[in-house]
Amino acid sequence: MQNWSKNIDFNDREYFLPESLSELQELIQSSQKIRARGSAHSFNEIANTSSRAINLSKMPKVIEIDVGSKSVKVSAGLTYGELAPVLHQQGWAISNLASLPHISIAGSISTGTHGSGIKNQNLANQVLSFDIVTSEGEVRHIDRTNPAFNALVIGLGMSGIVYQYEIKIEPTYQIRQVIYPDIPIDILQRNFDQIMGTAYSVSYFTEWTSSQSGNLWCKFRDAESIPESIGGSSKAKVKYHPIPSVDPVACTDQFGEPGDWYLRLPHFKLEFIPSVGEEIQSEFFIARKDAPSALEELLKISDVIAPLLWISELRTIAADELWLSGAYQRESVGIHFTWKKVDSINSVIQRVEDALRPFHYRPHWGKAFTADAKYLSSVYPKMSEFKALALALNPAKKFENTFTRQMLS
Ligand SMILES: Cc1cc2nc3c(=O)[nH]c(=O)nc-3n(C[C@H](O)[C@H](O)[C@H](O)COP(=O)(O)OP(=O)(O)OC[C@H]3O[C@@H](n4cnc5c(N)ncnc54)[C@H](O)[C@@H]3O)c2cc1C
Repeated sequence: MQNWSKNIDFNDREYFLPESLSELQELIQSSQKIRARGSAHSFNEIANTSSRAINLSKMPKVIEIDVGSKSVKVSAGLTYGELAPVLHQQGWAISNLASLPHISIAGSISTGTHGSGIKNQNLANQVLSFDIVTSEGEVRHIDRTNPAFNALVIGLGMSGIVYQYEIKIEPTYQIRQVIYPDIPIDILQRNFDQIMGTAYSVSYFTEWTSSQSGNLWCKFRDAESIPESIGGSSKAKVKYHPIPSVDPVACTDQFGEPGDWYLRLPHFKLEFIPSVGEEIQSEFFIARKDAPSALEELLKISDVIAPLLWISELRTIAADELWLSGAYQRESVGIHFTWKKVDSINSVIQRVEDALRPFHYRPHWGKAFTADAKYLSSVYPKMSEFKALALALNPAKKFENTFTRQMLS
């Protein structure tokens, strides 16, 4: 068994698909070590284990909307692609999505997965409460009044196995997607907040080639007005894929065609393979105010980056209070790299990390990075408190794996 990218061979001794809460509790109680796995879209060893792995996709599929509290109770093992159409059919939506709907809700929340938008926080901030099974097999409900909430919602699989979330919902809305091609990086640098704030959700894709330009993908919500041009670029008249050489058939509709939120916020349609497939992804979060200077540093090593890159994407993420969030107490930009799948990729990732170190980058937990535990503790200020809390909940360290042992040591 492998992850989505097939760069990780899972070493599970046993793999379980429980079908009820009691079966899940018994499994956890009877295990010495057990690790949850979602849809296996992470690019590092975070979901790997040499003992028992467990996946919740066969658990009862709960999607219960509570109109009064504007929330939905949802099984943790469902994907956003399963949740979103059901919400929409009943007149509801969530505030944002990642670039693809194929990923599990629990796996996404547990790694701080995000979409884009200057005012949009990452997906873990949509959570109102979550229900876990502890290492003793006991059920525990953690809501926002619990001091552990901010600590554990992005839990890296360490704080217990989540079987249900309560997620904030809002009335359904429409998105129109428009692309503005070939905006020079220097124009973006000089007008960063203005350009990245053009629409509800904005992504800038660049290849870091000598042309030093990129395509701006804008997702306008409801009545937001669509400018004729941005940074000297007019609205695209042909359909785009984030990676210029790939057929855009897999991409959600463009040209400003109005569509339901869940059919436009992701870049990729559910029924297609997202992105390019043969790839490794990395992403680093820095303060939004540092973005122009960070781009300058990356331009200096663009000759190292470009040959091994499919595409790079810049997105904005609003600050939050979640301890292991890339945007913890920092208005942020995610600088993302979709790399070609070559053995030497870690040395290039390290060059990028060196360039971003002065900006105290935080790596995405579900993507490839080379930073060690000492560095991670220096940029995630609540790391030692997170470890203490996870240990208190899980004294036998039942949920740890090699990744968490190395990264949280
Ligand atoms: C093509 C592609 C596009 C992507 N686009 C984006 C993007 O737009 N934005 C972004 O931020 N990321 C993106 N990612 C990264 C992705 O969102 C993360 O890797 C995310 O973790 C994937 O969810 P998963 O269900 O596959 O998690 P997995 O890789 O299966 O697991 C990740 C972690 O979640 C834990 N976990 C899983 N289920 C549970 C549970 N029930 N209880 C407790 N812990 C659990 C696991 O133990 C593990 O630690 C992308 C990945 C791919 C392959």
